Amino acid sequence: MKVSVNPLGLTKRAKPYVWVTWVTPLLAGEDQCKFKLWNQANFSSKSNGDMPSDWLVKHQSLLSEVAYGLRSEGYAVEEEDANALHLKTAAGVTLAGKPDIVALNGQGMVVDVKTGKPRAKDRAQVNLYQALIPSQGLHGISQVPWGKLVYANGEVKMIAPTEVDDRFKSSVKGLMDMVASPTPPDPTPSLHECRFCRFLDLCPHAQTEPPDATAADWL
Ligand code: SF4
Repeated sequence: MKVSVNPLGLTKRAKPYVWVTWVTPLLAGEDQCKFKLWNQANFSSKSNGDMPSDWLVKHQSLLSEVAYGLRSEGYAVEEEDANALHLKTAAGVTLAGKPDIVALNGQGMVVDVKTGKPRAKDRAQVNLYQALIPSQGLHGISQVPWGKLVYANGEVKMIAPTEVDDRFKSSVKGLMDMVASPTPPDPTPSLHECRFCRFLDLCPHAQTEPPDATAADWL
């Protein structure tokens, strides 16, 4: 069997594949390195490891609490595995994800629970679920649902369906088209991003030291 290997030593996937949380830091502007996403989507790589068990316990506990509250408000609630999203883009990229909760009552609502501090990518993640759910017709939902973020510190953010506008969809499509291209985008190394990158040990572009400072002629 012919196996294609890329310069980072990774094995090519049969088809490009993107998990929702790989793309949301780029959509939110928290990450800039599209080279990372291109490699992640087109080549298999070892993950950074399973989620720690204490995180899983905290997440499941918060999820159960939120699901209970929604049921008490009259929603039918679908959780995690029942909410699997698998969509294929026109360029042949599979985009997959799994919202924590889809609450059914009228237009529907997608809810994600977060045990950490609020981040911009959390909102982008919910926006992406909002965009994908009606495309798949998940649980019969045909319109963009409301979104909701619930944090362990008690903070709650409601996200209107109108946030999923043409501009947002165009950003997602642009990234999926980039992933489908046979040519990788240029890397965008930065200390901030490279140190958490799964390709840190493989990537020849990784930045691990601050760049040399240039003497300013006016300081
Ligand atoms: S190590 Fe840095 S430059 Fe290389 S893929 Fe990761 S983020 Fe991009």
